[in-house]
Amino acid sequence: TERPVKCSGCGIKLQTVNKELPGYIPESAFEREPVICQRCFRIKNYNEASSVSVDQDEFLHLLSGVGEKNALVIHIVDLFDFEGSLISGLQRFVGNNPVILAVNKCDLLPKVTNWNKLRNWMQQRCKEHGLRTAEIVLVSAKRNQGFERLLETVSELRGQRDIYVVGATNVGKSTLINRLISDYSDLEQELTTSRYPGTTLDMVKIPLDDGHYIIDTPGIVYPWRYSELVERRDLGAVMPENPLKPAVYQLNEGQTLFFGGLGRFDFIQGPRQSFTCYISTTLKIHRTKLERADSLYQDHRGELLTPPAAADMDKLPQWQRHEFRIGRGSQTDLFISGLGWIKVNGTEGAVVAVHVPRGVKVLTRPSLI
Ligand code: GDP
Repeated sequence: TERPVKCSGCGIKLQTVNKELPGYIPESAFEREPVICQRCFRIKNYNEASSVSVDQDEFLHLLSGVGEKNALVIHIVDLFDFEGSLISGLQRFVGNNPVILAVNKCDLLPKVTNWNKLRNWMQQRCKEHGLRTAEIVLVSAKRNQGFERLLETVSELRGQRDIYVVGATNVGKSTLINRLISDYSDLEQELTTSRYPGTTLDMVKIPLDDGHYIIDTPGIVYPWRYSELVERRDLGAVMPENPLKPAVYQLNEGQTLFFGGLGRFDFIQGPRQSFTCYISTTLKIHRTKLERADSLYQDHRGELLTPPAAADMDKLPQWQRHEFRIGRGSQTDLFISGLGWIKVNGTEGAVVAVHVPRGVKVLTRPSLI
């Protein structure tokens, strides 16, 4: 297939030669849809002013009729990227229809996890985001766990409703849909899917045995998730496939941790305390002195501090520093969308900072575990 000559954003002639000149596009970005120049890409994804991404707007527009319909909504989120994959604004669109929050990838957490406490924690987060959930179900599409509970809940709430399945990309939606289909329709019969009437996006209706439908909606691309920013080959490094092995670091103030070359955590001020990193086990953590951190990064990014590889370094936006003052009292996570989180175990307060590419969502929250 021929590749586009012009940026589908601003219409400029594309070129891969000179970053400083208009129309520049990195070779790899031709694989991304839409094909747009780096400038448009930056405006689209990192403009602070339009923090609600266009794609979410599009998505919610697509959903705008659902409030008037008799629907059951299954909203799938990724436990590893909870705040990054939660669809804020969903409530307005679903009206009074029930929402089941299916929290996928629960296999990533340690076996000892207190699941009830976890469910309460999630309920709190949903409340903060204005989302009412009829039920929160923890599942693992990969391990085939939690589905009985999910299907039970679906049966209880379904009545005469169609089932809408919504979620961000990479949350495990495909796997879950397949499972629903195999439980609700005749496997002997080949599945016929059809495009949802009146939409140009890939909204797919899957008929169930009882004359109702599962509606699979397109995955939302959220620009603030690290998993959307990295090259495909580095996706495996950020998105954990296996249970997280919490890595505990006893740090003095003035120490820094690097997560490969993907991010950095500074303990700036506070009493000696421990920090627990919940990140993919494939990412190597390097400890150094805060005062050495800048030069270490300059000298060793793409080599010692990798991924990304040297060739991919400039494809990511510049790092941005986010400083936080952690108060005394309850335990806090520093959450980095798509990369994981760092639990501040001390309760006597600390000043810390996180460095990640501009646009990646970083926030503090009460500790998940
Ligand atoms: P979709 O984009 O939402 O349809 O997500 P996919 O079903 O394609 O899954 C996206 C990625 O998440 C894949 O790399 C899966 O291997 C991984 N994944 C999906 N479900 C789980 C799960 O339950 N646990 C873990 N650890 N990974 C999962």
